[in-house]
Amino acid sequence: MTSRRHVFGPVPSRRLGRSLGVDLIPYKTCSFDCTYCQLGRTTNLTATRGEFVPTGQVIRELEETLKQSAPPDYITLSGSGEPTLHSGFGAVVDAVRKITDTPVAILTNSSLMTDPEVRRDCAKADLVVPSLDVADREMFACVNRPHGDVDFDEMVEGLVEFRAMFKGRMWLEILLLYGITGIPPYVRRILPLVERIRPDRVQINTAVRPPAESTVRPVPSEDLRELAALFTPPAEVIAHFRGAEEEHEFAAHREDILAMLRRRPCTLDDVVSGLGIHRNEAIKYLDELQRDGRIRSEPRGGAVYYAAPAA
Ligand code: SF4
Repeated sequence: MTSRRHVFGPVPSRRLGRSLGVDLIPYKTCSFDCTYCQLGRTTNLTATRGEFVPTGQVIRELEETLKQSAPPDYITLSGSGEPTLHSGFGAVVDAVRKITDTPVAILTNSSLMTDPEVRRDCAKADLVVPSLDVADREMFACVNRPHGDVDFDEMVEGLVEFRAMFKGRMWLEILLLYGITGIPPYVRRILPLVERIRPDRVQINTAVRPPAESTVRPVPSEDLRELAALFTPPAEVIAHFRGAEEEHEFAAHREDILAMLRRRPCTLDDVVSGLGIHRNEAIKYLDELQRDGRIRSEPRGGAVYYAAPAA
Protein backbone atom coordinates (compact mmCIF):
# COMPACT_ATOMS: atom_id res chain seq x y z
CA MET A 1 0.00 0.00 0.00
CA THR A 2 1.25 3.54 -0.86
CA SER A 3 1.72 5.63 2.29
CA ARG A 4 -0.31 8.86 2.17
CA ARG A 5 1.87 11.93 2.03
CA HIS A 6 -0.09 14.19 -0.28
CA VAL A 7 -3.69 13.12 0.30
CA PHE A 8 -5.39 13.79 3.63
CA GLY A 9 -8.81 13.31 5.13
CA PRO A 10 -11.59 13.31 4.28
CA VAL A 11 -11.93 16.15 6.77
CA PRO A 12 -15.23 17.88 7.57
CA SER A 13 -15.37 21.28 5.88
CA ARG A 14 -18.22 23.67 6.53
CA ARG A 15 -18.14 24.85 2.94
CA LEU A 16 -17.44 21.59 1.13
CA GLY A 17 -18.84 18.81 3.34
CA ARG A 18 -16.48 15.79 3.60
CA SER A 19 -13.47 17.01 1.71
CA LEU A 20 -10.53 14.82 0.65
CA GLY A 21 -7.54 17.16 0.57
CA VAL A 22 -4.71 16.99 -1.95
CA ASP A 23 -1.54 18.82 -0.94
CA LEU A 24 0.66 19.33 -4.00
CA ILE A 25 3.10 21.82 -2.57
CA PRO A 26 5.85 21.52 0.05
CA TYR A 27 5.15 23.31 3.31
CA LYS A 28 4.97 27.11 2.86
CA THR A 29 5.96 27.25 -0.78
CA CYS A 30 3.76 30.09 -1.95
CA SER A 31 3.61 33.12 -4.23
CA PHE A 32 2.34 35.17 -1.26
CA ASP A 33 3.51 35.69 2.29
CA CYS A 34 0.20 36.85 3.76
CA THR A 35 0.34 38.61 7.11
CA TYR A 36 -2.66 36.54 8.20
CA CYS A 37 -1.40 33.12 7.04
CA GLN A 38 -2.19 30.53 9.69
CA LEU A 39 0.77 28.42 8.52
CA GLY A 40 3.30 31.10 9.47
CA ARG A 41 5.81 32.92 7.26
CA THR A 42 6.38 31.71 3.68
CA THR A 43 9.76 29.98 3.56
CA ASN A 44 9.86 29.57 -0.24
CA LEU A 45 8.37 32.67 -1.88
CA THR A 46 8.10 31.86 -5.59
CA ALA A 47 5.91 32.50 -8.61
CA THR A 48 7.68 29.86 -10.73
CA ARG A 49 5.68 26.73 -11.40
CA GLY A 50 7.22 23.28 -11.11
CA GLU A 51 6.54 19.64 -10.29
CA PHE A 52 7.14 20.15 -6.58
CA VAL A 53 6.00 16.62 -5.73
CA PRO A 54 5.75 13.73 -8.24
CA THR A 55 2.38 13.94 -10.03
CA GLY A 56 2.25 10.15 -10.53
CA GLN A 57 2.68 9.53 -6.82
CA VAL A 58 -0.16 11.91 -5.94
CA ILE A 59 -2.44 10.15 -8.44
CA ARG A 60 -1.55 6.70 -7.03
CA GLU A 61 -2.30 7.90 -3.49
CA LEU A 62 -5.63 9.28 -4.64
CA GLU A 63 -6.53 6.03 -6.44
CA GLU A 64 -5.78 3.96 -3.33
CA THR A 65 -7.60 6.29 -0.97
CA LEU A 66 -10.70 6.41 -3.15
CA LYS A 67 -10.70 2.61 -3.47
CA GLN A 68 -10.62 2.17 0.29
CA SER A 69 -13.17 4.67 1.56
CA ALA A 70 -16.64 6.01 0.87
CA PRO A 71 -16.61 8.80 -1.75
CA PRO A 72 -16.06 12.24 -0.21
CA ASP A 73 -18.25 15.24 -1.14
CA TYR A 74 -15.28 17.00 -2.76
CA ILE A 75 -11.70 16.33 -3.71
CA THR A 76 -9.96 19.60 -2.88
CA LEU A 77 -6.62 20.86 -4.14
CA SER A 78 -5.34 23.14 -1.37
CA GLY A 79 -2.79 22.47 1.35
CA SER A 80 0.33 24.08 2.71
CA GLY A 81 1.01 26.56 -0.12
CA GLU A 82 -0.42 27.70 -3.48
CA PRO A 83 -1.64 24.59 -5.38
CA THR A 84 -1.53 26.14 -8.87
CA LEU A 85 2.26 26.47 -8.52
CA HIS A 86 2.35 22.72 -9.20
CA SER A 87 2.75 22.27 -12.96
CA GLY A 88 0.87 18.94 -12.84
CA PHE A 89 -2.28 20.04 -11.02
CA GLY A 90 -4.31 19.84 -14.25
CA ALA A 91 -3.12 16.25 -14.77
CA VAL A 92 -4.27 15.44 -11.21
CA VAL A 93 -7.76 16.81 -12.02
CA ASP A 94 -7.80 14.77 -15.28
CA ALA A 95 -6.86 11.63 -13.33
CA VAL A 96 -9.58 12.24 -10.73
CA ARG A 97 -12.14 12.51 -13.56
CA LYS A 98 -11.14 9.03 -14.78
CA ILE A 99 -11.45 7.47 -11.31
CA THR A 100 -14.56 9.06 -9.81
CA ASP A 101 -17.54 11.37 -10.31
CA THR A 102 -16.70 13.23 -7.09
CA PRO A 103 -16.50 16.96 -7.82
CA VAL A 104 -13.12 18.68 -7.68
CA ALA A 105 -12.51 22.02 -5.93
CA ILE A 106 -9.41 24.20 -6.17
CA LEU A 107 -8.59 26.82 -3.53
CA THR A 108 -6.19 29.37 -4.97
CA ASN A 109 -4.72 32.74 -4.01
CA SER A 110 -5.39 33.88 -7.65
CA SER A 111 -1.77 34.94 -8.25
CA LEU A 112 -1.25 32.66 -11.26
CA MET A 113 -4.57 33.41 -12.97
CA THR A 114 -2.46 35.59 -15.28
CA ASP A 115 -1.13 32.36 -16.85
CA PRO A 116 -3.42 30.92 -19.61
CA GLU A 117 -2.28 27.38 -18.77
CA VAL A 118 -3.30 27.83 -15.12
CA ARG A 119 -6.69 29.23 -16.21
CA ARG A 120 -7.17 26.29 -18.59
CA ASP A 121 -6.33 23.75 -15.87
CA CYS A 122 -8.41 25.50 -13.18
CA ALA A 123 -11.34 25.40 -15.63
CA LYS A 124 -11.27 21.57 -15.42
CA ALA A 125 -12.49 21.79 -11.80
CA ASP A 126 -16.15 21.93 -10.73
CA LEU A 127 -15.57 24.64 -8.15
CA VAL A 128 -12.82 27.24 -7.96
CA VAL A 129 -12.43 29.36 -4.83
CA PRO A 130 -10.02 32.21 -5.61
CA SER A 131 -9.03 34.84 -3.05
CA LEU A 132 -9.06 38.59 -3.46
CA ASP A 133 -8.41 40.39 -0.18
CA VAL A 134 -7.63 43.92 -1.32
CA ALA A 135 -8.56 46.59 -3.87
CA ASP A 136 -5.19 48.03 -4.80
CA ARG A 137 -1.46 47.35 -5.25
CA GLU A 138 -0.36 49.19 -2.12
CA MET A 139 -2.60 47.18 0.18
CA PHE A 140 -1.69 44.03 -1.80
CA ALA A 141 1.96 44.63 -0.88
CA CYS A 142 1.03 45.17 2.80
CA VAL A 143 -1.46 42.32 3.31
CA ASN A 144 -0.47 39.57 0.86
CA ARG A 145 3.22 40.45 0.43
CA PRO A 146 3.40 38.80 -3.03
CA HIS A 147 6.43 37.61 -4.97
CA GLY A 148 7.80 40.47 -7.11
CA ASP A 149 6.53 38.82 -10.33
CA VAL A 150 2.88 39.02 -9.23
CA ASP A 151 1.18 42.22 -10.38
CA PHE A 152 -2.12 43.11 -8.72
CA ASP A 153 -3.89 44.60 -11.76
CA GLU A 154 -2.82 41.72 -14.00
CA MET A 155 -4.06 39.27 -11.38
CA VAL A 156 -7.51 40.91 -11.36
CA GLU A 157 -7.59 40.80 -15.19
CA GLY A 158 -6.67 37.10 -14.97
CA LEU A 159 -9.66 36.50 -12.68
CA VAL A 160 -11.96 38.36 -15.10
CA GLU A 161 -10.68 36.27 -18.03
CA PHE A 162 -11.00 33.08 -16.04
CA ARG A 163 -14.62 33.82 -15.12
CA ALA A 164 -15.44 34.44 -18.78
CA MET A 165 -14.21 30.98 -19.80
CA PHE A 166 -15.14 28.93 -16.72
CA LYS A 167 -18.43 27.02 -16.83
CA GLY A 168 -18.24 25.76 -13.24
CA ARG A 169 -18.92 27.54 -9.95
CA MET A 170 -16.68 30.31 -8.66
CA TRP A 171 -16.81 31.46 -5.03
CA LEU A 172 -14.64 34.49 -4.37
CA GLU A 173 -13.16 34.57 -0.87
CA ILE A 174 -12.26 37.92 0.68
CA LEU A 175 -10.34 37.84 3.95
CA LEU A 176 -10.62 41.13 5.83
CA LEU A 177 -8.38 42.41 8.61
CA TYR A 178 -9.50 44.48 11.58
CA GLY A 179 -8.80 48.20 11.16
CA ILE A 180 -6.99 47.69 7.83
CA THR A 181 -9.23 46.27 5.12
CA GLY A 182 -12.19 45.31 7.32
CA ILE A 183 -13.75 48.78 7.32
CA PRO A 184 -16.67 49.96 5.14
CA PRO A 185 -14.75 52.59 3.08
CA TYR A 186 -12.15 50.02 2.08
CA VAL A 187 -14.63 47.24 1.35
CA ARG A 188 -16.51 49.69 -0.92
CA ARG A 189 -13.34 49.90 -3.00
CA ILE A 190 -13.37 46.11 -3.51
CA LEU A 191 -16.99 46.14 -4.81
CA PRO A 192 -16.21 47.31 -8.40
CA LEU A 193 -13.62 44.55 -8.76
CA VAL A 194 -16.15 41.97 -7.63
CA GLU A 195 -18.64 43.34 -10.16
CA ARG A 196 -16.10 42.81 -12.92
CA ILE A 197 -15.14 39.30 -11.78
CA ARG A 198 -18.79 38.17 -11.40
CA PRO A 199 -18.28 35.23 -9.02
CA ASP A 200 -21.28 33.02 -8.19
CA ARG A 201 -20.80 33.84 -4.51
CA VAL A 202 -18.71 36.15 -2.37
CA GLN A 203 -17.52 34.72 0.93
CA ILE A 204 -16.12 36.95 3.65
CA ASN A 205 -13.54 35.63 6.06
CA THR A 206 -11.20 37.04 8.68
CA ALA A 207 -8.07 35.96 10.52
CA VAL A 208 -9.72 33.79 13.18
CA ARG A 209 -6.68 31.53 13.55
CA PRO A 210 -3.33 32.66 14.91
CA PRO A 211 -1.76 34.58 12.00
CA ALA A 212 1.84 34.85 10.76
CA GLU A 213 2.07 38.40 12.18
CA SER A 214 0.91 38.96 15.73
CA THR A 215 -0.26 42.50 14.89
CA VAL A 216 -3.02 41.13 12.64
CA ARG A 217 -6.47 41.11 14.29
CA PRO A 218 -9.74 39.43 13.23
CA VAL A 219 -12.77 41.57 12.37
CA PRO A 220 -15.47 40.94 15.05
CA SER A 221 -18.33 38.81 13.75
CA GLU A 222 -20.97 41.59 14.04
CA ASP A 223 -18.78 43.91 11.93
CA LEU A 224 -18.30 41.14 9.36
CA ARG A 225 -22.06 40.85 8.95
CA GLU A 226 -22.31 44.60 8.29
CA LEU A 227 -19.46 44.45 5.77
CA ALA A 228 -21.08 41.45 4.04
CA ALA A 229 -24.26 43.51 3.57
CA LEU A 230 -22.35 46.00 1.40
CA PHE A 231 -22.24 43.41 -1.42
CA THR A 232 -25.10 42.83 -3.87
CA PRO A 233 -26.33 40.21 -3.20
CA PRO A 234 -24.99 40.20 0.37
CA ALA A 235 -21.82 38.15 0.85
CA GLU A 236 -21.76 35.05 3.04
CA VAL A 237 -19.72 35.26 6.23
CA ILE A 238 -17.62 32.09 6.42
CA ALA A 239 -15.30 33.12 9.27
CA HIS A 240 -15.64 30.52 11.94
CA PHE A 241 -15.21 31.73 15.48
CA ARG A 242 -14.68 28.70 17.71
CA GLY A 243 -17.79 27.79 19.71
CA ALA A 244 -17.74 26.32 23.22
CA GLU A 245 -17.72 22.71 21.99
CA GLU A 246 -14.84 23.27 19.56
CA GLU A 247 -12.97 25.25 22.19
CA HIS A 248 -13.28 22.15 24.37
CA GLU A 249 -11.95 19.87 21.58
CA PHE A 250 -9.15 22.34 20.82
CA ALA A 251 -8.19 22.40 24.50
CA ALA A 252 -8.12 18.58 24.59
CA HIS A 253 -5.71 18.39 21.61
CA ARG A 254 -3.60 21.13 23.11
CA GLU A 255 -3.30 19.14 26.36
CA ASP A 256 -2.30 15.99 24.39
CA ILE A 257 0.48 17.95 22.69
CA LEU A 258 1.63 19.47 25.97
CA ALA A 259 1.75 16.02 27.61
CA MET A 260 3.82 14.72 24.69
CA LEU A 261 6.25 17.65 24.80
CA ARG A 262 6.66 17.35 28.57
CA ARG A 263 7.93 13.79 28.08
CA ARG A 264 10.54 14.78 25.48
CA PRO A 265 11.23 17.53 22.93
CA CYS A 266 9.57 16.72 19.57
CA THR A 267 9.67 18.01 16.02
CA LEU A 268 6.54 18.94 14.07
CA ASP A 269 6.75 15.54 12.31
CA ASP A 270 6.89 13.76 15.69
CA VAL A 271 3.70 15.53 16.77
CA VAL A 272 1.98 14.72 13.45
CA SER A 273 2.81 11.01 13.61
CA GLY A 274 2.46 10.73 17.40
CA LEU A 275 -1.05 12.15 17.51
CA GLY A 276 -2.19 11.16 14.00
CA ILE A 277 -3.28 14.69 13.08
CA HIS A 278 -2.74 16.66 9.88
CA ARG A 279 0.38 18.80 9.64
CA ASN A 280 -1.62 22.02 9.32
CA GLU A 281 -3.60 21.14 12.46
CA ALA A 282 -0.39 20.41 14.37
CA ILE A 283 1.07 23.78 13.27
CA LYS A 284 -2.04 25.54 14.50
CA TYR A 285 -1.76 23.98 17.98
CA LEU A 286 1.99 24.49 18.26
CA ASP A 287 1.66 28.13 17.18
CA GLU A 288 -1.00 28.84 19.74
CA LEU A 289 0.92 27.12 22.54
CA GLN A 290 4.05 29.03 21.64
CA ARG A 291 2.21 32.34 21.58
CA ASP A 292 0.78 31.56 25.02
CA GLY A 293 4.34 30.91 26.26
CA ARG A 294 3.47 27.32 27.22
CA ILE A 295 6.08 25.73 24.94
CA ARG A 296 9.33 26.90 23.38
CA SER A 297 11.13 25.90 20.22
CA GLU A 298 14.79 25.59 19.43
CA PRO A 299 16.71 24.61 16.28
CA ARG A 300 18.86 21.54 16.71
CA GLY A 301 20.72 19.54 14.06
CA GLY A 302 18.78 21.06 11.15
CA ALA A 303 15.35 20.49 12.78
CA VAL A 304 13.16 22.58 15.08
CA TYR A 305 12.32 20.92 18.41
CA TYR A 306 9.42 21.93 20.62
CA ALA A 307 9.57 21.42 24.37
CA ALA A 308 7.32 22.12 27.34
CA PRO A 309 8.47 22.55 30.93
CA ALA A 310 7.33 19.72 33.27
CA ALA A 311 3.93 20.44 34.87
S1 SF4 B 1 -2.66 32.40 3.28
FE1 SF4 B 1 -2.50 31.09 1.49
S2 SF4 B 1 -1.79 32.47 -0.09
FE2 SF4 B 1 -1.37 33.49 1.84
S3 SF4 B 1 0.74 32.90 2.37
FE3 SF4 B 1 -0.64 31.43 3.38
S4 SF4 B 1 -0.75 29.71 1.94
FE4 SF4 B 1 0.04 31.49 0.79
